[in-house]
Amino acid sequence: MGKSTLFNRLSRSRDSLVDDQPGITRDRLYASIIWGGTSLTIIDTGGFEAPDQEPLVNQVRAQVEKAIDEAPRIIFMVDGLQGIMPGDEDIVQILRRSGKRVFLAVNKIDGPEHEHLAFDFYRLGMANVYPLSAAHGYGLKTLMEDIVHELPQLEHEREDSDQIRVAILGRPNVGKSSLINRILGFDRLLVNELPGTTRDSVDNLFNWHGKEYLLIDTAGIRRKARVKEKIEKFSMIKAIKSLDRCHVAVILLDASEGIADQDARICGYAFERGRGIILAVNKWDLLKKAPGKKKALDVAFERQLKFVAFAPRINLSALTGERVKKLFDKIDIVNQQFCQRISTGAVNRALEEMTKTNPPVQKGRGRLKLFYATQTRIKPPTFIVFVNRPEWVHFSYERFMINRLRESFNLNFTPIRLIFKKR
Ligand code: GDP
Repeated sequence: MGKSTLFNRLSRSRDSLVDDQPGITRDRLYASIIWGGTSLTIIDTGGFEAPDQEPLVNQVRAQVEKAIDEAPRIIFMVDGLQGIMPGDEDIVQILRRSGKRVFLAVNKIDGPEHEHLAFDFYRLGMANVYPLSAAHGYGLKTLMEDIVHELPQLEHEREDSDQIRVAILGRPNVGKSSLINRILGFDRLLVNELPGTTRDSVDNLFNWHGKEYLLIDTAGIRRKARVKEKIEKFSMIKAIKSLDRCHVAVILLDASEGIADQDARICGYAFERGRGIILAVNKWDLLKKAPGKKKALDVAFERQLKFVAFAPRINLSALTGERVKKLFDKIDIVNQQFCQRISTGAVNRALEEMTKTNPPVQKGRGRLKLFYATQTRIKPPTFIVFVNRPEWVHFSYERFMINRLRESFNLNFTPIRLIFKKR
């Protein structure tokens, strides 16, 4: 049919992550991708094909329903060369009852000259029909743009809530569940369990010193894996789902083990997604009497985690409870900066000042001009900068601007995004 081809094409980009470990979800593959700056989790549901001529058997129906349950948006793929198949109408009925947004992808259409093959599929009664070729990529951009465009504002971006959404992330055994238990065990803390985004996930809501916190997907973390190896990648996907919903990512590191590649990777995912980050070095109790190890850790920070240098660091121990409460001071300050608004006047005064002290270098015959900037979003603070030629903005100049904004507006602990637009 081409579902896997589509899945592979979408998940091939550099910063996507595919869970290809068999065993956990034999029938489903997950990948986290970034398309046009938006982070998406895609699921390949394997075969729904009804065996031979039989009608859609119950087992396949159950499969479809499970997959629908997990996803707010669904790409239903049909075969443009074969035309409408007997099972297609059954699936369409189930999809329609689900009330989810469905995009009908008519596959094996390699170019505009074959688009007429897709017309027949309007008979299925779906409004969104996309002729495309999973193998060659034709039509894919249109489909993905529509899907991304339709995404409602992510939970974490909603600006109407004072709730601070926190995800605790880290590789297996760094102490995530210990930390969560420690936090939820605070004196006189009233904790509500709320359903998360999927059937088996749980978030915890509580108030602490007058602020409301949502600890995301605690059940997913505390559920112990029987075979840790096996679920490592799978939990990475879960971690990314949590990242997509959080304001502040507390990334746990293991003081006794130093910084592993996987730690850096998790930081990378949080960074790409523009989340507030706290680097929490757990098991600090084990380092108390090992000054050499502390030094080594500092060096590793500098070498491997430099790209998240804006993230505050805290050394703590989930086991003894040391500095776990202090973690909340860090969360508060990161969140406060993450939600900071700067007036347009102030932004432009800063812009003027930075171009005066360090004008962009001349590029060929032309010169990059920065006209005007304004903050368009919070979570994280995002600024649009109007320029004459966006493609002339060198990344080093962008970095300089970000650093100046940090200094000018006390935004040292939050990621900042700049979008350059042609005026
Ligand atoms: P998870 O897989 O990230 O959820 O990690 P766990 O919370 O299950 O912890 C893994 C192991 O590390 C357990 O044996 C914990 O008791 C231990 N551990 C967790 N936090 C600390 C800590 O702060 N200090 C020490 N010494 N051990 C810890």
